[in-house]
Amino acid sequence: MTAPTPRPGIMEIKPYVPGKSGPADGDDRPVIKLSSNESALGPSPKAVAAAQAAAETIVRYPDGAATVLREAIGAHHGLDPAQIICSAGSDELLELIPKAYAGPGDEVLYSQYGFALYPIATRAVGATPVTAPETDYHTDVDAMLERVSENTKIVFLANPNNPTGSYIGRDEVHRLRAGLPDDVLLVLDSAYAEFVDRDDYSAGRELVDAGENTVMTRTFSKIYALAGLRIGWLYGPPAIVDVLNRIRSPFNVSSVAIAAATAAIDDHEHVAQALEHNRLWLPRLTQSLRGMGLTVHPSVVNFLLVQFPGGSDQAKAAEEYLAARRIYVRNLVAYGLPDCLRINLGLDHEMAALIDAIGDFMENV
Ligand SMILES: *Cc1c(COP(=O)(O)O)cnc(C)c1O
Repeated sequence: MTAPTPRPGIMEIKPYVPGKSGPADGDDRPVIKLSSNESALGPSPKAVAAAQAAAETIVRYPDGAATVLREAIGAHHGLDPAQIICSAGSDELLELIPKAYAGPGDEVLYSQYGFALYPIATRAVGATPVTAPETDYHTDVDAMLERVSENTKIVFLANPNNPTGSYIGRDEVHRLRAGLPDDVLLVLDSAYAEFVDRDDYSAGRELVDAGENTVMTRTFSKIYALAGLRIGWLYGPPAIVDVLNRIRSPFNVSSVAIAAATAAIDDHEHVAQALEHNRLWLPRLTQSLRGMGLTVHPSVVNFLLVQFPGGSDQAKAAEEYLAARRIYVRNLVAYGLPDCLRINLGLDHEMAALIDAIGDFMENV
């Protein structure tokens, strides 16, 4: 008997491992979920109200062009709405880009600890993932450029990167672009841009504007905490926007998501509160964990890469110990960082519970 066979590359995909949400044991005591990097304060109440109001209209198809939202994004960031595409999470765009620009025999380049979706999106179209080693858990532009070949079609750069929490400065990103051939598409995945408080950081719009070969992707899942609605966007040169609009699903963004995201982007006060909370806890949690003998890599975002001195066995034991206290963090075995856990910042009481639990764990092992 013969059965349908998927295209080459598909069976080489290692399925994405999401952050744990909690035990499936019917036990409904509250959990502390610090495994998927959503903003600690949750979404704007105005966004939630807009989603609830939009629920009244779900009998109708959404506006396939997400016009209202593209205009709101354009107004907020000073961008031309015609150069914006909205999507079902930025993940959708990160998958559409290889679909449009790479195929069998082509290479897609990203750094060693680059976001886990890149190899999936690459192999899904039959292209070959190529990784460049990082230096001290940062993207190494020289190592990236050394691995460019005549088959390279796309370079993905998450900046800041997940799961390392590190970033590279504007000058380094520009040096990467300048070193790439003009026909290589550079994708600046700026999912965490809003969190970054550094003068030398840029989310990349100036590189989009400077040429025909760079795009920037953004998301409403992280600072705006609308992860469950699946909404992201891309800013790109008109020709690339045209290509991606041809292959995206015609109604890829729901009416509820459009309404919620449009309200979220207008709630500046809520975003300011989320940033203030982050700026308070980023150094606090970093220092607490360092005080316990853990290596905490410098982070500019809302999560920490925490490395255990006892290696992968200790990291695994810590993950289990925390889970037993209903605290869920992200193990990074799939990223080749088995001695680390990724932990996002949460609410005050969640951070206190986390610090207590890790403190107890470190004292007892
Ligand atoms: C979370 C994340 C995304 C995208 O998330 P969506 O929910 O699909 O918008 C993209 N890139 C990185 C690096 C991320 O961490």
